Amino acid sequence: MIRILHKVKDLEKEMEYPYSSVGTDNYSLKEIYRPIVVETSQASAGNFPKSIKEHFWIRPGENDGDSWYSCGQLTNGNYFFYSASCDYTGFDCQGGMNLWVSSSWETLVHYGMGSTLYRLYLQQTQDESKSTQNVLCCSCKKDPGTMPDPFTETCGRLCEHCYSVLKKKEEARRYKKKK
Ligand SMILES: [Zn+2]
Repeated sequence: MIRILHKVKDLEKEMEYPYSSVGTDNYSLKEIYRPIVVETSQASAGNFPKSIKEHFWIRPGENDGDSWYSCGQLTNGNYFFYSASCDYTGFDCQGGMNLWVSSSWETLVHYGMGSTLYRLYLQQTQDESKSTQNVLCCSCKKDPGTMPDPFTETCGRLCEHCYSVLKKKEEARRYKKKK
């Protein structure tokens, strides 16, 4: 099952640093591409990372620290999983990169991501979906939607202020109808 991190777009700039080294001497696509053993033909990465259509998940990293991870879909329809790490001097000194590509998301998860990282991906995307349960009011989009919304046919939650405003409007409309 594909889950998408709620604010993944905001994290895309975190990937610019490792992505900028893809294609340089030690990190040519040929060097970083990891074949998936069960696939009879190697799925194309296109002109990665330019070929990325959409990110599902990004886990930012740092020099001499946590690895960078990203996954998503390419413009050719294939799915990718990417990991990168480097020491404090950066990718041009000591570092590593891996790119797995498959036409099947399940195959990619199984043979590329592996169970530990898949668990992290599920955890982080789940946490995000939980936090989106604290939805914003669909009318003002500012305050928390603490009231049910029987008036509009959009997202279904309103803040107390918008609820009372819309309730008055609805009552006025009904009153007019009666007349
Ligand atoms: Zn509101």
